[in-house]
Amino acid sequence: MADQRPGLSGLSIDELTAWFAAHGEPDYRARQVRTAMWKGSATSTSELTTLPRALATALNEAFRWSTVADESIVGSDGGQTEKALHRLADGATVESVLMHYPATASRRARHTLCISSQAGCAVGCPFCATGELGFTRDLETAEILDQVRSAQRRLGADERITNVVYMGMGEPLLNLDRVLESVAALNDPTGLGLGARHITVSTSGVVPGIRRLTALGPQFTLAISIHAARDALRDVLVPLNRRWPVAEVVAAARDHARATGRRVSYEVTMIGGVNDTEADATALAELLRGDLAHVNLIPMNPVAHTPWQASPMPVIERFATRLKAAGIPVTIRRNRGVEIGAACGQLAAERAGAPPAPAVARRRLRLETASARALRGQRSEEPVPAGVEG
Ligand code: SAH
Ligand code: SF4
Repeated sequence: MADQRPGLSGLSIDELTAWFAAHGEPDYRARQVRTAMWKGSATSTSELTTLPRALATALNEAFRWSTVADESIVGSDGGQTEKALHRLADGATVESVLMHYPATASRRARHTLCISSQAGCAVGCPFCATGELGFTRDLETAEILDQVRSAQRRLGADERITNVVYMGMGEPLLNLDRVLESVAALNDPTGLGLGARHITVSTSGVVPGIRRLTALGPQFTLAISIHAARDALRDVLVPLNRRWPVAEVVAAARDHARATGRRVSYEVTMIGGVNDTEADATALAELLRGDLAHVNLIPMNPVAHTPWQASPMPVIERFATRLKAAGIPVTIRRNRGVEIGAACGQLAAERAGAPPAPAVARRRLRLETASARALRGQRSEEPVPAGVEG
């Protein structure tokens, strides 16, 4: 049976203080344990030498030191990218990706960690390997945070994680309460202590979730996976669009930018012949003109069950030029760790095994028909994906 003890990192400092108080222990114990959890190298509660033995035993009986077991760590890009596969207590697997950016003349070295918020995802974007897996379950707060602790431990005492992005498996804002708790813990000085601007939540467009993130107050960075500015095409590429159309998503993102003073990032996965046309560039430019926004164009990583490929680089450059002409800042992103499938759930998808060939052929045909209809401007008649409610 799966280990039922809650993960220690999921407790707030107040909850941990209350637990120690109930065991007749002073407040500083909670801070001591939080420091060991986030800054130390211990891999189990029994290694906490600052705690009396009996207290460490009691703590270990009540809580798990970590809720993720690192099953494999695979490096690529000459050691610049590391992908970790984490096994959870019930056997589900999720992944995180640690990317190292060396120091330059004007900037210190950065270590950006991309984490998962759910096992699988209910949104079902067809170009995404996680979407292909379907939804398994929401992660607990501790399971989200322990991916970060695992990476910090691997980095060692001399280096700190400088950025955390919620761009791994899952739709963070469909696991809203736990994601918001985890974001607060990363920001908390007794947790990771990372500045809000260095924490990015990426969403396919869950409007009420965006509004709750904004209402938290700190200047968290918001990334919107927009992919298409026209509803008909976005209905196909991001099925959630049937519930929250693109104009509502951009309105919520605009309010976030206004409230925080922070630019919103818009991500476009560039798919050859699908969302990279002149009409798409024009529609996106019109939608974002004058906004506090920044667009990232990312060539699509190949995914086995789609008929699609990345847009050719000259097409991406033309798309970028159109956006720039409308005064919108844009960056073309190189894909990190393509060879180990660093994008969004690909390692776990590979492990799930390839579906049988006839199923892949049917899926490809359905996507070709759906995207061709969308390019003619016809809205999808498919329902909102199950598991996506308002
Ligand atoms: N569910 C959230 C966060 C996780 S996905 C979201 O969609 O924003 C993180 C990013 O990876 C998204 O921008 C997503 O569109 C992108 N992505 C998914 N599959 C991809 C692929 N095959 N190639 C390139 N980017 C991909
Ligand atoms: Fe889910 Fe994001 Fe993948 Fe879409 S791109 S299926 S929202 S994880």
